[in-house]
Amino acid sequence: MYIGNTNYHPSPPNICPHCHVVNRPEPKWEAKTKDTDNVDSNISVWQCANSECRKLFIALYQLVGTKPQLIRFLNGYPKGPDWPQPILELENGNGEDNEQSRFIITYLQSLEAENYGLNEIAGMGFRKAVEYLVKDWAIKNNPDDSEKIRSLWLGQVIKKYYDGDLKDILERATWLGNDQAHYNKLFEEYDIDVLKELIALIMVELDRQHKMNHYIETIQSKK
Ligand SMILES: [Zn+2]
Repeated sequence: MYIGNTNYHPSPPNICPHCHVVNRPEPKWEAKTKDTDNVDSNISVWQCANSECRKLFIALYQLVGTKPQLIRFLNGYPKGPDWPQPILELENGNGEDNEQSRFIITYLQSLEAENYGLNEIAGMGFRKAVEYLVKDWAIKNNPDDSEKIRSLWLGQVIKKYYDGDLKDILERATWLGNDQAHYNKLFEEYDIDVLKELIALIMVELDRQHKMNHYIETIQSKK
């Protein structure tokens, strides 16, 4: 893939912006170009490998520092953050067998609303995404309580099933999120970017806890 006059071999996109299913899309076409700000770019067309989807999508690659990176998709939903594996694999707590978690779908729809300048809707959407993440994660770790977790308020789930810094950050994300859904704003000084930053922190922490639990369970003392 050429960006400027150099040939690069960046990682291909690993998620489809239409169906959001992680896969290895097939490259169909690419060309080097410049974007509207005259930045060296490469535009490539890919076909989703998910047999239920098979849609074409367009990816924009540019250099970040010296490394070629997928900047965004030019059709379908926006790229979104890099999802940690346990978040990608998070099942929907309502038992519905969707291919993608409700958290990721809701997050991406909110991101798309934001990209269209629909900030009021985007804010409420991120709030809803946090609720899906908090409840589905709690259900994953406490499957016997699933009925109860589904019926509790978000704040109650956070208090009962989370602790430490993670609980404090989840509460703050909820405060900012609720603000997005109400008439009177209590946290005027914080915007959607702060809420997204908190969601990013929450994902990092959940991923960290998941990995620690995994290694503590799988690597046992040999004495
Ligand atoms: Zn697809």
